[in-house]
Amino acid sequence: MSLVTVGSVAFDAIETPFGKTDKIIGGAGTYIAFSSSYFMEKQNIVSVVGEDFPQEMLDKLKNKGVNLEGLQIKEGEKTFFWSGKYSNDMNSRDTLVTELNVLEHFDPILPASYQGCDYLMLGNLSPQVQSTVIERLTERPKLIAMDTMNFWMDIAMDDLKKTLQEVDILIINDEEARQLSGEYSLVKAAKKIRTMGPKYLIIKKGEHGALLFHGDQVFFAPALPLEEVFDPTGAGDTFAGGFMGYIASTDDYSFENMKRAIIAGSAMASFCVEKFGTEKLENLSKSEIEDRIQEFVQLTDFDMVQTV
Ligand code: AMP
Repeated sequence: MSLVTVGSVAFDAIETPFGKTDKIIGGAGTYIAFSSSYFMEKQNIVSVVGEDFPQEMLDKLKNKGVNLEGLQIKEGEKTFFWSGKYSNDMNSRDTLVTELNVLEHFDPILPASYQGCDYLMLGNLSPQVQSTVIERLTERPKLIAMDTMNFWMDIAMDDLKKTLQEVDILIINDEEARQLSGEYSLVKAAKKIRTMGPKYLIIKKGEHGALLFHGDQVFFAPALPLEEVFDPTGAGDTFAGGFMGYIASTDDYSFENMKRAIIAGSAMASFCVEKFGTEKLENLSKSEIEDRIQEFVQLTDFDMVQTV
């Protein structure tokens, strides 16, 4: 099955209680592509970078089976830059800088080879670009998933509401769910958000796991308790990449299979946070991933004896 991912390919500068990086490679599209690459032999990315973006990183993506035909390199322009600083408990972060650069006038290209794709992952980008990608696909994919963030809620809420009507599943964090719905209770927020378009909603709660809502059904997956968390940047995108990679590779988007996909996404995200940037995600082995998924299974496996 084929997967198209849309998302930023970027430079990030990150500050956590454990240290600070200069410009390193980041971007929602980068994290999604690396993460989903472990589930799919081949996949496709739609994005844009400036001429300052290192070829070496594009080669790494290519080596992971990512088709870069839809990735534009803009001569004389600069790559998107984002900088963020995490609080001491690393559960919240402040955006320090967002320089849109090439993303400001991004006109996504959908190469002929991407047409007819089965699954579409709209990573965090302007909602207008996300809608344009859907419009430019001549056939609607089986499942369209979307991520977004407070930045777009602050500056493009009307566009965002339009895009939400076109997608099947929204993947956001708890803070974003509260901002989008105006509700503090995540159960109420989930109800309200599902009236906006997506039939499925995943709310990520960082180290507290993730919730999946559909109709009257709710599923909860924990996050793996880790001894060391160095950098949560990209964990959400890595989760989305693992989730969609699993769904696309199994070609099954039933609620039951989405539960498995959430565990796959959570396992990938648990790797992401163990090193700065994409470092850990670049060189994982299949057996490491399988072992980690088993750790999740063990974490929630118990026998209940009758108590009342
Ligand atoms: P996450 O930690 O999963 O929320 O994603 C962090 C990644 O999102 C970073 O690598 C950033 O480059 C990217 N990012 C941050 N802000 C934006 C934005 N406004 N548009 C697109 N990508 C962004």
